[in-house]
Amino acid sequence: MAHEQATDQNQPRGCQLCGADRKTSTCHGFQACSACRTLIARVRNQPEVVRRIWQEFQNEPILPGDGPPATETELPDVLDGKRYRTIDREQNKWYLSISEMNGNPVEVFASTAFDRDHELQSRISNLTTITRLISLILRHIFLGERLTFAKCLKQIKRSSRQKDDLPDMLYGVLSRYDPAAREAAERDSRG
Ligand SMILES: [Zn+2]
Repeated sequence: MAHEQATDQNQPRGCQLCGADRKTSTCHGFQACSACRTLIARVRNQPEVVRRIWQEFQNEPILPGDGPPATETELPDVLDGKRYRTIDREQNKWYLSISEMNGNPVEVFASTAFDRDHELQSRISNLTTITRLISLILRHIFLGERLTFAKCLKQIKRSSRQKDDLPDMLYGVLSRYDPAAREAAERDSRG
């Protein structure tokens, strides 16, 4: 009797899944209440419904390669596209190019005459940030490319043209939240 009580005290209290302080028993290695044992059985026997619930809240497949489209589509070297000529409020001419795959937009580019103006480097880098991030989001929506913080950081960093332009500053601030990027930044500043 005494021995049994000692063992009980070493067990974590309550259900490991829902946290409720209910009577639990071991189910596939988890201490689970009866409701959560039903859930575990559901995960085991009907993973489809669990996949759908996961995707609903986590905005990514529960397993790599899950969900629509089933696999990440590689961008081919040559894409169809459309180029739109527009004029902004300051009468600058712009070319907005949309690359398409199966009729969906998957990349955007923008160019204008000030591309060749060296005094406007910062405007160009801001523009590059916008188009790179939009392209990343489009590839996520239409090609199933997994959207990660590391990819966002990479696109922001690549948009920078000179030290302390807006993307460089954004990268500096945001990379504090990413351990790998922070280490790289520290290495750079030492080197
Ligand atoms: Zn439970």
